[in-house]
Amino acid sequence: MSSTTLHRTGQGPMYNETLYDTVLDAVSRLHGVPPTPLHRPVFRGREKQLLAECIDSNFVSSVGAMVSEFEEAVARFVGARFAVATVNGTAALHVALMLAGVQRGDEVLSQALTFIATCNALAYTGAHPVFVDVDKDTLGMSPDALRRFLEANVRVREGVAWNIATGRRISACVPMHTFGFPARIAEISQICADYSIPLVEDAAESLGSWVGERHTGTFGRLATLSFNGNKIITTGGGGMIVTDDEVLARRAKHLTTTAKVPHLYEFVHDEVGYNYRLPNLNAALGCAQMEKLSTMLVVKADIANGYREMLAASGLTVVDGLPGTTPNYWLNAVLFGSLRERDEFLEYSNSKGVMARPVWRLMSRLPMYSGCQNDGLENSKWLEERVVNLPSSVPEARFGGLEA
Ligand SMILES: *Cc1c(COP(=O)(O)O)cnc(C)c1O
Repeated sequence: MSSTTLHRTGQGPMYNETLYDTVLDAVSRLHGVPPTPLHRPVFRGREKQLLAECIDSNFVSSVGAMVSEFEEAVARFVGARFAVATVNGTAALHVALMLAGVQRGDEVLSQALTFIATCNALAYTGAHPVFVDVDKDTLGMSPDALRRFLEANVRVREGVAWNIATGRRISACVPMHTFGFPARIAEISQICADYSIPLVEDAAESLGSWVGERHTGTFGRLATLSFNGNKIITTGGGGMIVTDDEVLARRAKHLTTTAKVPHLYEFVHDEVGYNYRLPNLNAALGCAQMEKLSTMLVVKADIANGYREMLAASGLTVVDGLPGTTPNYWLNAVLFGSLRERDEFLEYSNSKGVMARPVWRLMSRLPMYSGCQNDGLENSKWLEERVVNLPSSVPEARFGGLEA
């Protein structure tokens, strides 16, 4: 596409076509010729075999052995004692928040720079989201912003954190590990402990991301994962609640499976439960995908390395993990110089079939959540104007390494 096409969009001439071509050149050297999706799933293991086993066994729905196998594989991988599979990541977070003690009318601290699912799950509990800022380097919740907000707004009385401006209880804090880059989670965890606020990690994007030797999602009381089609591994749709607390794990299983009291033949339910079960078919996909996760992570790190090297001289900031962390490099991200440059690049790249994407619009700017309290969100706003995700699938040329 020439810059004349852009003239038609009324944006004036492109001001850095050389830069945009440098980025697109890096994309095509890693991913081949367009169309280039942002992230596409890879099925190179026992997926078909395990799906066939499910069908042959007749256990395709909410009962079956694959579900517990998948749960055990994920718990083992992240180093948590328990994992409870759910129908998707949003459902997992909804129930995790309930189990953390979040009730209607409470407030829950989170970040405005996140995917809508975080905020929706929070709203399902009837709680009010409160947004604190993120760090520019991790794109995740800023411990400094969190502490500043708490010092200015919150008092702890008898083990309960109260927002003095609203008179509401703050019953959870939900940071998110954006694009798989670990947030400063150890510091966040300490601050939450200081204020008696339960920590629930939204680790939907960070399966395979570590802080030192510790997997993201093991720093709080509970954490949630997602296996949606665009995530690092997929079950078609699916989620997981992870925790070290056996009582919470049992409650999670009970609540997500209609709260049925175990009985040989009677239907008795002892509270309002949810049909948030992951079907056995989806769990079969999950089992096969887990077998390839470690290999996938090596390839993902290679792609990130490729972008870093090819864009080193471009002037763009390529987002990377903090020292001491190992990101899963689920989605690669670069920072453009301004909103105009970001938009120009997105226009240019998408018109050429390269599905680069901007970061999500801030939750604080969506009509449902625009009335929520926030701390000014300086870094979130800055990032919103600059972050672009580049195609991050496992390239076809690397499929060989993924064969069984
Ligand atoms: C994907 C995702 C979820 C969960 O999404 P589902 O599509 O319901 O599995 C939650 N939070 C974040 C940040 C996500 O990216």
